[in-house]
Amino acid sequence: MKLYNIKDHSEVVSFSQAVQQGLGRGQGLFFPDTLPQFDDMDALLTMPLVERSTEILSALIGEELPKSQIGELVSEAFNFDAPLKQVGEHIHALELFHGPTLAFKDFGGRFMAQSIAAVSDGKKITILTATSGDTGAAVAHAFYGIDNIDVVILYPKGKISPLQEKLFCTLGGNIHTVAINGDFDDCQSLVKQAFDDNDLRQTIGLNSANSINISRLMAQICYYFEAVAQVPKQKRDQLVMAVPSGNFGNLTAGLLAKAMGLPIKRFIAGTNANDTVPRYLQSGQWAPHQTVATLSNAMDVSQPNNWPRIEELFRRQQWPLGELASGWADDEETAESLRALSQAGYLCEPHGAIAYRLLEQQLEDGEEGIFLCTAHPAKFKESVDAILDINITLPKPLAEHATRSVLSQTMDGDFIQLKESLLHINNR
Ligand SMILES: *Cc1c(COP(=O)(O)O)cnc(C)c1O
Repeated sequence: MKLYNIKDHSEVVSFSQAVQQGLGRGQGLFFPDTLPQFDDMDALLTMPLVERSTEILSALIGEELPKSQIGELVSEAFNFDAPLKQVGEHIHALELFHGPTLAFKDFGGRFMAQSIAAVSDGKKITILTATSGDTGAAVAHAFYGIDNIDVVILYPKGKISPLQEKLFCTLGGNIHTVAINGDFDDCQSLVKQAFDDNDLRQTIGLNSANSINISRLMAQICYYFEAVAQVPKQKRDQLVMAVPSGNFGNLTAGLLAKAMGLPIKRFIAGTNANDTVPRYLQSGQWAPHQTVATLSNAMDVSQPNNWPRIEELFRRQQWPLGELASGWADDEETAESLRALSQAGYLCEPHGAIAYRLLEQQLEDGEEGIFLCTAHPAKFKESVDAILDINITLPKPLAEHATRSVLSQTMDGDFIQLKESLLHINNR
């Protein structure tokens, strides 16, 4: 597989380099040089998830990794389903939250962890990351138990929900969690200092495994195929997908799937009040506002970091950007749609509810709509309980972790102390 840097096309890297490096020169994103096509789409769509995803990912990765190995990575990574549920006459929910941390980030995170392990040839690696809650859980579970990789996760002490803390700070083993006396910015600043320390970086094989990593998007392409595979064949030619978007990685993956020949007629990009993209698509002006806090907090992003990949894809495919539909919903509208879904017999959470709302508003006659449900309702229990006046029971993974004890060490926001600790972990 070859990938180029969107900002500097002369920088060309392999899959293995892109996975280990994350970003190219000048902070440029990597983008696949060619997108494979499939001769027999119907046959591909009849395969089970793991087998089909192995086909898709090995077509992308090419000879760099043997197909049998890709098959092993995929079956480790995708060990849960993505069922499509009927919600209205022509509306379906794609549930992407049946993984260990109950959000769609498990797909990308788990495949990224497997990929990093596969391309690093047994070298010792330390993944260092800061989290304000959800990413930490996905990263911790994805890397848990992988040989030669230690994961160190920093989070602001007392500033994440107790349930979130239980989900990733109770694992132990190769997962090291550090509660920092400070806020999220202090945690991020410590991570930055570690990456600026070349000596340390070399010694412990520092990698960030951040959300820009191409392996995440590649994994996410697979569940779009899984969604279409669950739609009866005669309804596959008028499919519309609504995607709740923050950093726009999820939507990028869907558009890549379409470019690889998956029959999706069109996409709707949905945001909350952080509506940089819908405004841009209407006005042609890229004018991010200050980020505001909303009910759908995983989408509180006003400068989406995957957007350049979407523009690059439209340019390459010669698709007019105007074909991308979009819209946004404020918190009141989000709550209203959550209630409407509940009345229709479907329990959702704020992110999925925004996608549903826009799909419902924009779906045309003859079209079949799918909205993406990116998190389990229990993950946003506080707001869902309050809006619907219910008391959601915790699903098994959350309930199990809730009874375990937190293993984190506490530290001041002091880089010297963190560095000692990182070296100590590396020498175990
Ligand atoms: C991360 C996240 C999103 C946004 O996805 P992007 O790929 O960043 O657009 C939406 N919903 C949930 C629940 C998330 O965790």
